[in-house]
This record gives sequence, structure tokens and C-alpha cells, in this order.
Amino acid sequence: MTNQDKHVAELTRDHSDHQQLLDQDTLISVKNVKKYFPVKGGILKRTVGHIKAVDDVSFDIKEGETLGVVGESGSGKSTLGRVILRLLEPTDGRILFEGADIAHIGNRKMREHRKNMQIVFQDPLASLNPKMSVGELIEEPLLVQTSATKAERKQKSIELLEKVGLRASDRTKYPHEFSGGQRQRISIARALALNPKFVICDEPVSALDVSIQAQVLNLMKDLQDEFGLTYLFIAHDLGVVKHISDRVAVMYLGRIAEIAPKDEIYKNPKHPYTQALLTSIPVVDTGEDTIQREKVKISGELPSPADPPSGCTFRTRCPFVHDRCAAERPELKETENGHYVACHLYT
Ligand code: SF4
Repeated sequence: MTNQDKHVAELTRDHSDHQQLLDQDTLISVKNVKKYFPVKGGILKRTVGHIKAVDDVSFDIKEGETLGVVGESGSGKSTLGRVILRLLEPTDGRILFEGADIAHIGNRKMREHRKNMQIVFQDPLASLNPKMSVGELIEEPLLVQTSATKAERKQKSIELLEKVGLRASDRTKYPHEFSGGQRQRISIARALALNPKFVICDEPVSALDVSIQAQVLNLMKDLQDEFGLTYLFIAHDLGVVKHISDRVAVMYLGRIAEIAPKDEIYKNPKHPYTQALLTSIPVVDTGEDTIQREKVKISGELPSPADPPSGCTFRTRCPFVHDRCAAERPELKETENGHYVACHLYT
């Protein structure tokens, strides 16, 4: 195949991808995305290896959908979120937002897309500038990214404060004057200032008391319904994403172990890692709906992403490990309608 033929094939592939996206109302499509961090060593500080924080991850998210991404610390879920927003540069792969590949575009073009792609961080105290008033914090994106007048910016910040359950008079206060839950509401208002289509929620309730978590999750769900938002919701436990997600992806050591519609993953988890994560969630007895699960326990720590195990990276902790697991890496395969799992038990 000549270079020109390859180019035409690539363009054709892009076009068919794009068409497929439009057909399926897909807002964002992540294709074979990798993020490797170099490990330097020796006197000359040469690259002696790589930390594979995100390793060949692919999924789509439809408009208005919430994809929950779950995994323990070090699974690569937060890095994935930052790569999608291009806060970190991807090492490889494609990120299609509304059909346009944003994985390697320049800063100026990316700025246009950023209006539609926002993030809410775990720790609002760290992400909100303590020297800025709440009004300034919410209006800052409008000041930088739009031509809205001062009066329009003020009006928008008041509207957003009220939408997130705070008062117009809170505009003049500073982040330290609020509780953790209220600060996260301010972060959400700031993230919505530019009317984004897509919001990455990076453990937005992990630092909050359990009683406050439910309030913030309900608020996020209401805002999603009102503004038609699409969420990528990152959390370290399956309990948190249960009520807000339409589908759930479970990550382990930079890769997706399992992805399925929410009901499927909670009622019929297939990957041993997902089963173990669900074992650690307390089961509430709700009568006939109570799900009786086999208890799957795992031991040991997450291996280093700089030196992952061969074959299945979960094999050092898996109670069902067998010979094939060390020799061959399981690929993510569809086992039932929309239910994908990367495990040799299913192939
Ligand atoms: S591939 Fe093997 S080690 Fe990996 S999860 Fe499946 S059974 Fe366990």
C-alpha cells in the first residue's frame, strides 16, 4: 500500500467513524488512548522505562449520558480524565469530541472546545483561588472566554449560584467562608459558567461527609437533566457512582477491566476485580430486590504501573488465575449486549 493509499484509508476510516458517531448521538469517543510517563535513570537522566498510567483505553459516551469510571488509587482514572480534556497530552490515541479529533490539535483550536468541556475537581479548596470572591471565581471563565459585559457576567453568576442552591449575596464572600459541600457547589457553578456540554467530575464527592455526598450527587443529577449535560464521573468506589451513572467502566492499572450498563454491572459483574469491588460495598436488604453475591476477596497491593505483570495485569491478585493469564493479555470483549469484559474466563 502506497503512502497515498494509507492516507485515503485513514480519511475513509475517519469519515466512517464520524458518521457512526453522528448516527449514535455520541458526544465523545475515546479511541486507544495511552498516557505514558517516562521514568528517568542514571547520571544522564535517560529514559529507562515508562509508567503506563493509561494504556489503550477506548469508549464512547452519548449525549446526556453519564459514564462512571471506577478504580482504586493508581488505576489511571484521574489521568484519563485530564488526558481527555488535554490538561495532559496523550501519548497516543484519538479523542473525538462532536466528531472532531482533539487529541493533537493546537492550543488555539483546543480553546474553542474547552468552552464545552469542563472539570469539577475533588478538592474545591485547592481548585478555587482563595483570594478571589465567589462572584469573581464564577465570572472568570466568562471574562476570559467570552465578550459578556460586566452586568451580564454578574447576572450569570447570580443565576448559577441560585441553580446550585446558594444565594446571590454569596457572590461577595470567599471560599474559606463556606463548608466543603458549599465549596463544591461553587466549583460546579464555575464549571457551568460557559454552558458546557461535557463535564468531567473527578471524585467530586470523595472529600465530603456521606450525608453531604447525596445532596451534591442529587444536585449534579438535577443540573444534568436541566442543562442536558454529559458526564464522565470518576470515583474510587462503585457505591458512589451507582445512582448517577448510566454505564460504568472499571479500570485496573491503566486499562478497562469491564464496562457495562449500570444494572448489568451491579447485578451481573463478570470480571473478578469488579466482583471484589462490589464485595466491599455493604449490601442493603431491600427485600426481593436484594442481590446475593458470591464474595470475591483480593489481597495485595496494586502493582507498579512502571513494571506491570505480564499477561493479565490483575493476575497477581486474582483468585481465579490460571496458566493462560500470565502468557496472554485478555482483550476487552463483548460477552452480552453492551457488556464488555477483559478476562480469559469469558473467552
Ligand atoms: S484473565 Fe485470569 S488473572 Fe485476569 S482476571 Fe481473568 S482469570 Fe483473573
